[in-house]
Amino acid sequence: MATPSVYQLVPPRARPTNVQEIVDFILINAIRTKASDLHFGLSAAPGGGALTYLLRFRVHGKLQPVKTDFIGQSHKEILTRLKVLANISTTEIGVPQDGQIAMNTPEGSLVLRLSFVPNPEGEEVVIRLQRAQKIPPPEQLGMTGDMLKSIQTLLQQKSGMIVINGPAGSGKTTTIYSLLTALSSPERKIVTAEDPIELRLPYVSHTAVGKNTSFAQLSKAFMRQDADVIFIGEVRDPESAEAAVQLAQTGHLVFTTLHTRDALGVVPRLEAFGIHPNFIASSLIGSLAQRLVSRLCPKCRVPATLDDATLLHMKTILPMSPAAKVMQAGPGCQECIGGYQGRMPVYELLTVTPPISDLINRRASQKDLAEAARDSGMLTLAQEALIRVYSGQVEYSAVKGYLSNY
Ligand SMILES: [Zn+2]
Repeated sequence: MATPSVYQLVPPRARPTNVQEIVDFILINAIRTKASDLHFGLSAAPGGGALTYLLRFRVHGKLQPVKTDFIGQSHKEILTRLKVLANISTTEIGVPQDGQIAMNTPEGSLVLRLSFVPNPEGEEVVIRLQRAQKIPPPEQLGMTGDMLKSIQTLLQQKSGMIVINGPAGSGKTTTIYSLLTALSSPERKIVTAEDPIELRLPYVSHTAVGKNTSFAQLSKAFMRQDADVIFIGEVRDPESAEAAVQLAQTGHLVFTTLHTRDALGVVPRLEAFGIHPNFIASSLIGSLAQRLVSRLCPKCRVPATLDDATLLHMKTILPMSPAAKVMQAGPGCQECIGGYQGRMPVYELLTVTPPISDLINRRASQKDLAEAARDSGMLTLAQEALIRVYSGQVEYSAVKGYLSNY
């Protein structure tokens, strides 16, 4: 594949006149309508007859035809122009070709992946628009109420361990990258051990765990890396758990992930890895659990129909204000897929206060720990989920699972 060239879009005129303007016009419109793919080729007109241009954008999963009267007779020239931009052969027609174009636009940078395939009249192209993954700042992670303040207080600590937990695909990486980006500066040494490295962050030394390097090995090496902040991709065995705790106790702010059910689950998990409660109490400063839930489309959602028992159950977990609007998915519309628009996170943050640290040290039960956490103001995953249900952002059935332990 050819090396990508960066193409700066030219703002379109009212009506594009030459091929360069037509291509810009199509691409700008594809970007502005948030299309994921662009399909361009020739098609028989419905009911037979001459071949006509067919330009379609895939928006929110649905292919939609686009008006093409501005294209004129330029089908071949458009394909040639796209090939020039993608730096691939313009003379080879009749063979499949792939290329890419990197672009900077006011909406952010993106990469276009082009795939040309031959047809009887020449060829057609499909373009996938890949937007650069944006790491939101902590303020845009979707944390409610005081949680953001608590996270920011934790970020100011010079040492200690912050554990992020949740199942695969729950958005842990985005959260950690957001927190690391908030901390990144030329005056701070940040090192990571990851499997794999998903993104390169400014002022961060990323290292990858591989066949011959484990999390535990890298963590031990970080002792001599004069680091301030350390991210250990995953604590998965006694060795890496011990290394993470040791780093947290020796003047490093350590981030890591663990597989547990909730924020409090970190304590017994670390104990199971052989970490003495005393060491957990003195190193753990925060534990964040997270999940992703489907977000309701605000355009077509409808009031929820829930039975009294369910409503009562919800209210015992979290009181419902009279202003609450409990909604459920609507029939679907132009702006969504089946009533949903992507997903949103739900968090549960345990801040280890002195009383909680004391309880961990004394091997208190999970029940006692939960009570102390509640007293300190922690909202559980179930309660956090209900905040989103009461505001009509997610539906009850999407978070039902978190409520079942009550
Ligand atoms: Zn909708």
